Amino acid sequence: MPDLAFLNGKILKIDDAFVSIEDRGYQFGDALYEFIESFDFHILCLDEHLSRLKFSMGELDYPQISISELKKQITDLFQRCEYSRAGCYLQVSRGVQSRAHSYNNEAAPQISMTIKDLSGIDPCINEIGIKIRTCEDYRWGMCQVKTVQLLPAALEQHKAQKQGLNDTVFVSKEGIVREGTCTNIFIAKNGVLITHPLDNHILPGITRDLIINTICKNRHLDTQGKYYTIDELYSADEAFLCSTVLKIQPIIEVDGKSIGNGTPGSLTRQVQAEYDKIVYQN
Ligand code: PLP
Repeated sequence: MPDLAFLNGKILKIDDAFVSIEDRGYQFGDALYEFIESFDFHILCLDEHLSRLKFSMGELDYPQISISELKKQITDLFQRCEYSRAGCYLQVSRGVQSRAHSYNNEAAPQISMTIKDLSGIDPCINEIGIKIRTCEDYRWGMCQVKTVQLLPAALEQHKAQKQGLNDTVFVSKEGIVREGTCTNIFIAKNGVLITHPLDNHILPGITRDLIINTICKNRHLDTQGKYYTIDELYSADEAFLCSTVLKIQPIIEVDGKSIGNGTPGSLTRQVQAEYDKIVYQN
């Protein structure tokens, strides 16, 4: 079965799906996205992804679309592809308009999706841990919105990989730890899991929320949303990155400094085990 795409109501082969050169996503980065996975034919956290998309559209003054209709279209695409484990990239742009900075909301948003087989990617628990670097956060001021304006994230992830590292974490000029290029970050100190509070400097990650509101509650782990510095990251007992795609990734080294004893810590392992149970064994 060839990989499929969805474009404004039609399902096509990916190679047959094209958008206009005057799409505002292409010309202005005026587009939003979500990445949604399925496992064992079950779509994971679909309502959470749709509710974040709705929030992002509201933040950027997009015209309303029918979220229930979109939910049906996504579900249909997952069914049509017949992959037991699939990844759906969903993008909503403000639509096709003659190029001008100021937009009008008369054109319908353009909705596109691609769906791919993820069965070759084993969602196994990372037992070894990852090494990361940090850099100053030079992204725009609305990181709570999941836009396609990902150039700083792409450049900094590329730099990390060139250096043999897994990712880069953005840190504000004042030294506050924000998030990874496509992940949220937690540290553990004295038995408490700490993460950046929700504001305009980080994406409200679905995995972050699952950890705070389900995993930590199930396991009776203490959590705190608070700003913390890069020095607190260096001296944390444990740290991990989290996202839909990467799950829970224990951090064992930041900027060449070992975190804790340089191996995944026990709280991180508990979060990994509970995540695995909730997402893959349900
Ligand atoms: N932070 C950023 C900047 C991201 O791009 C992502 C995911 O793409 C996340 C955090 C994690 O979000 P989620 O857990 O919803 O995948």
